Parts: sequence; structure tokens; C-alpha cells
Amino acid sequence: MSEFCAIMLKLCCSGIPLFALILLASCAYQGVNEYPLASAYPAPQDLVPKMNELAARHPGLLVHRIIGFTATENLPIHAIELGKGQRNILIIGQHHGDEVLGVALAFQLFESLSERYHKEAQVHELLNEFKLWIVPSLNPEGWRVVSANLTRTKRKNNRDTDGNGKLDLRTDGVDLNRNYPVFWDIDIATDHLSPFYKGPQPASEKEIQAIIALGRKVSFDLAIFYHSSRTGALNETIFLPAVDEPKEDFLALQDLAEFYAQNVPRDYLPGTYTLHKNSTSKVGNARNFFYHSLEVPAMLIEIGGINKEGKSIIHPSNKMVKRIVNRHEKALVKMIQRMREL
Ligand SMILES: [Zn+2]
Repeated sequence: MSEFCAIMLKLCCSGIPLFALILLASCAYQGVNEYPLASAYPAPQDLVPKMNELAARHPGLLVHRIIGFTATENLPIHAIELGKGQRNILIIGQHHGDEVLGVALAFQLFESLSERYHKEAQVHELLNEFKLWIVPSLNPEGWRVVSANLTRTKRKNNRDTDGNGKLDLRTDGVDLNRNYPVFWDIDIATDHLSPFYKGPQPASEKEIQAIIALGRKVSFDLAIFYHSSRTGALNETIFLPAVDEPKEDFLALQDLAEFYAQNVPRDYLPGTYTLHKNSTSKVGNARNFFYHSLEVPAMLIEIGGINKEGKSIIHPSNKMVKRIVNRHEKALVKMIQRMREL
């Protein structure tokens, strides 16, 4: 509760109950960041029990895989194959440690869609044609730190970049979404203290090696990377790979991304998500790598909100987390349906 609300509430307690009720309703405005994280965010230790439970309940529909391990803490990188189809879609919930909304969405997708598979003809047909490869977190070290409420701003993995033998939460690590082996050499993020540090070499990080191996093994029709931006200006926006001359496949990707954007209402303001149509960063990020190196259409979706004051909300309350992940699940199902029809 804000200081203003607390003071006003004290005044109300001296005898104006109706006013107090109205005031409390306004103080419950959802457009704020909450840290420690609200309980709706899944924790790393929830993943395997949840997967085991779902795999037992839906035999043959979900397969749990470990696609690699992190270098510093040797944490497993989990992937869930959901569906029985021949066409593959990659969904990565998290590259950056503090961007936990995408992890919550990943959990929602494999939990909800596996239930809906048995109840709804549309979802049944979709998952018979497609298989979703859901990687809740490609950055289990960052996820661990932020989930343990050690810091709200951990972006990178936990590589000991300054070599002092301990984890410096604010500065250590490599930005995994700058470490892919495409455009890496022209990225200027060489300062190992920077939150955007691209790493000592292209694909130096084991997390990135694991996802590249998966990308080379499986033929994907589409790759989606969820993020949340700490600055309000970038949220509720879809970003595509950097291209000099858009070709036919890029225009088709653009249409698909536009369709997704139009199907997600913004969290706190009127209107829907938008597709960023101007040029995007030429750095070693996932969308550039999948599109340019693997020829997989790829998009980044910034699912943090922007509140009425223009502030970025990336750690919303329980109520908002549930609303946001539901909306994205709906939009994703609609978009995959559209892929079937094209
Ligand atoms: Zn991010």
C-alpha cells in the first residue's frame, strides 16, 4: 500500500466507512510491481513434480526432456514436448532471470493445454497436428536467483565473469540473448559488468549450446521467445528479426505476429499489443539466430505491461499474472489455428 493510501485509510478509520471502501478499491489498483514475487509465479522446484503429475495424467501427450545443463551451477534445462503432431513450435519462456512472467506462461501452457486436449475439439486437433516444445526457462540460474527473492533485477546467467570466485548478483554473468552466434561480432556489449554483456565468445554459454543443438535437431515451423522489459516503452510489443530487405517468408511472419498482437489486450491501458515494424537490433539474439541461421520464423513477445503512469510492470500481482497468461494462451491458440489454415 502506498504512503498516501495508508494515511487516507487512517483518516477513514475515524468514521467514514463508505469512503473507506471506495479508497480501498482504488488502492487495490493492480499496476504496480511486487517483489518478493507473488505466489502465482512457479518456482524452479515446482517444475519436475508438475511435469511428472501431468505426464501420468495424460500418457503419450507430454514428454519431459532435459536438453542440457548450466555451466556454473550445473542446473538442468528442461523442455516439455506437448502434443502428438509432426509440425514443431518452439516456445521459450525465459532468457533473462528477472523476466518471470514468461515462465508463468510456459507453465500455464503445458498445464492448461494438456487438460483442454481432452475437452476441446479445437485444442485436440491442434495438438494432433503440432507439437509444442516448451522450455520454461533457458536461464535456470537467473530464474533460481529471482525466484529465491535475492534480487529483482537479475538478467544474466551466473558465470563468474570477473573471476573473483563468488557470485556478484549485480554484475556477474552473460546476457544469454546476446550470446547466439549471429551478428555477435558486431555487438558492442563487451563490458563484462554490463547487464547486456555478450560473453567471451559466440555461443560460449552452455545454455545457448543446448538450445542451438535442439534447434538443429528439430525442424521448427516457428519459434517464440517471451520476455518482459523493465522499461515501459518496449512492453506489450512484438519484435521480429533484423532484416535488411524483407522477403516473402518475413512478410508471412509479420502477418502472423500482427495477428497475435491484435489478439492480446494491453494490461492497464486501452487497445492491444502492437507489432514493432521498424528495424530491430543486429545482435546475437535468439530471434536473429533462429531466423538467419536456422531459417525458422521467430518472434520475441514482450509480455510485461505498461501502467497508467507509463511505468513498466514486469512483476505484477497474482490476479494480473493469471489474467496475462490466460490472454496469451488464447492468442497463441488462435495463432496456431491460423497456421493450420494458411
Ligand atoms: Zn528479456
